[in-house]
Amino acid sequence: MAPRKLAAGNWKMNGTLASLAEIDQIRATPAECDVLICPPATLIQAVAATGIATGGQDCHANASGAHTGDIAAAQLRDVGASHVILGHSERRTDHAETDPQVAAKAIAAHQAGLVAAICVGETETQRDSGATLDVISAQLAASVPDCTTAANTVIAYEPVWAIGTGRTPTDAQIAEVHALMRDRLSARFADGADITLLYGGSVKPGNAAEIFAIPHVNGALVGGASLKAADFGPIITALS
Ligand code: PEP
Repeated sequence: MAPRKLAAGNWKMNGTLASLAEIDQIRATPAECDVLICPPATLIQAVAATGIATGGQDCHANASGAHTGDIAAAQLRDVGASHVILGHSERRTDHAETDPQVAAKAIAAHQAGLVAAICVGETETQRDSGATLDVISAQLAASVPDCTTAANTVIAYEPVWAIGTGRTPTDAQIAEVHALMRDRLSARFADGADITLLYGGSVKPGNAAEIFAIPHVNGALVGGASLKAADFGPIITALS
């Protein structure tokens, strides 16, 4: 089995019911890849009802309980989600999420039957100091749980300094990190060669095809450019 190709949209804290019109247009884009939309929690049920694959943007590590404001993996599944983004850098920064917490959430996601989209990525300071490969290796080791398979997990490389900035790494920098991730995952998991690896960070219609041509890039996790079908559609087309 080769890794599945995936165009994933992360709407972050954007979107209302009026945004469902964009979903209709995204669904109309011919796709020879998997297409996933991760809207805010308020829209998961409505987006899933359109038939497009739908994901949450976080889940709690516990199955239920006194955790005001949090959502359990099984609750995401209950309203139609198939995936959940975990360890996004905005969660790691805004909510001080650690690698062990991300791994615990991934286990909860797997137990609920969700695919975990686990994010890793270096800060600009870490890249400038030459620490990128060590940072990514450490995050993979500690954020990706032992129960990972190619069927229940995708990994997104998202350099923190490239998210929402309009800046992207060079092709060689993306290639270097993706090769490292493939090596690490293949060494650790029986089907690690088949795990879908996404690049994320300022992917746009204008740079998508070039990024998708980089070895071991099996798709993208797209933020800003996933909000409008006029932008996300061409990215889907570039991956197809
Ligand atoms: C993201 O939020 O995961 C992301 C990659 O954002 P953007 O595409 O806007 O950089």
